[in-house]
Amino acid sequence: MMKLTPLDADRKHLLHPLHHPVAYKNLRIWVEGRGATIKDADGREYLDGLAGLWNVNVGHGRRELADAASAQMSTLAYASSYAGSTNLRAIELAERMSGLAYPQINAFYFTSGGAEATDTSIKTSRFYWKALGKPDKVKVISRLRGYHGLTLAAMSATGLPAFWPMFEPRVPGFVHIDAPDPYRFVNPDPAVSLGVAAANQLEAAILREGADTVAAFIAEPVQGAGGVIVPPPDYFPRIREICDKYEVLFISDEVITGFGRTGRWFGLEHYGVEPDIMQFAKGITSGYVPLGGVGISDRVREVVENVPLQKRWMHAYTYSGHPTCCAVALRNIRILEDERLVERAAALGTHFRKRLDGLLSQEGVGHVRSQGLIGAVEIVADKSTKALHPPEAQIAQRLTDALLDHGLYTRVALDCICLAPPLVVTEEQIDRIVAIIAEVVPAVCGVRL
Ligand code: PMP
Repeated sequence: MMKLTPLDADRKHLLHPLHHPVAYKNLRIWVEGRGATIKDADGREYLDGLAGLWNVNVGHGRRELADAASAQMSTLAYASSYAGSTNLRAIELAERMSGLAYPQINAFYFTSGGAEATDTSIKTSRFYWKALGKPDKVKVISRLRGYHGLTLAAMSATGLPAFWPMFEPRVPGFVHIDAPDPYRFVNPDPAVSLGVAAANQLEAAILREGADTVAAFIAEPVQGAGGVIVPPPDYFPRIREICDKYEVLFISDEVITGFGRTGRWFGLEHYGVEPDIMQFAKGITSGYVPLGGVGISDRVREVVENVPLQKRWMHAYTYSGHPTCCAVALRNIRILEDERLVERAAALGTHFRKRLDGLLSQEGVGHVRSQGLIGAVEIVADKSTKALHPPEAQIAQRLTDALLDHGLYTRVALDCICLAPPLVVTEEQIDRIVAIIAEVVPAVCGVRL
């Protein structure tokens, strides 16, 4: 029998996230990575503009992480963390996280990724209210253009309607409000700032649904996959105020913003507020092995600890507290600290922003934004009306392909070129990323299909 080429074997046997055969037109087989670059099977090198999928924070090719995994696998690769069993790496990681996370978050549950973390946060918020004798507080409010993963509950919280139709019905009890998008949000109330007006939509939604039915509000400090939306400074303080007023738990989804991406360890540090529940994934291991998790505040922890046995927290994953994944996370966190990569993201963020600002005058660029080393360039058909290109122009796909052809790997969401390079990226590499965008945007957008 003839051996299939890797491409043919992929086509025949592998189903991909967001699967569709059309994606084979411009397929790359990735074989190697170093720092902020990745190489394909043809030996061509690319700048990794998205750190994999916003996760390879310490960069590619780290021997230390391979060694940490190897050492733990050779000693105890796996052990159950079900109540009554534990392991040293999970204990160490939880203790370490307690020192890094928000002051009131000191207890951690580990998952295999972001969507499992979302389900855990949602289930925990419902558990919390039931334990306190408020069983009807079950609804979850999130934002349009928010992304929280794609298990059924996470998909229902995710505010990108493209992910919904072929999998409906969604889980009942999920409600969406607008994103606090400084570029597109239309402030209906000139008496308050855009940030406060956007946050006030949460209050309106809680009042509409009835505060007695709402368990939690979930939000990313910077909305990532929805096109990188950095909220105004007064948005999250107002959100915290509303959550407190109506007894709604505030879940911060730090799957992208955690572990230095924004120039701080966690995203809400920019806004001086703390969540009741935080969730993370991606950057905790820089993607070298799958790991995510949830941290709960002392107040939530108190409730979880004090239910009678028959009401115990019946939530569980086989791979919770996985020793090998926790060992890699511990080593990864040490790299972030030893190399001061969080500070580096903040410092390089200034340079990154200057370069992005330089794109604004260019034809076709409607808006640029960033915080630390996460940013986006929003492409429009008409700068004065902010109108997007019509869907038939297929701008997102054509931009993605053209950027790849010019040596930059990234994703384009809702016509926003998303950028989140590894935190080890150099100034020269940032300049190159922006130079490629400057070259590609007019070339793609100037051509009508
Ligand atoms: N939350 C956020 C903010 C994310 O960006 C993602 C993944 N892009 C998820 C949750 C889901 O994570 P996973 O794909 O690991 O399930």
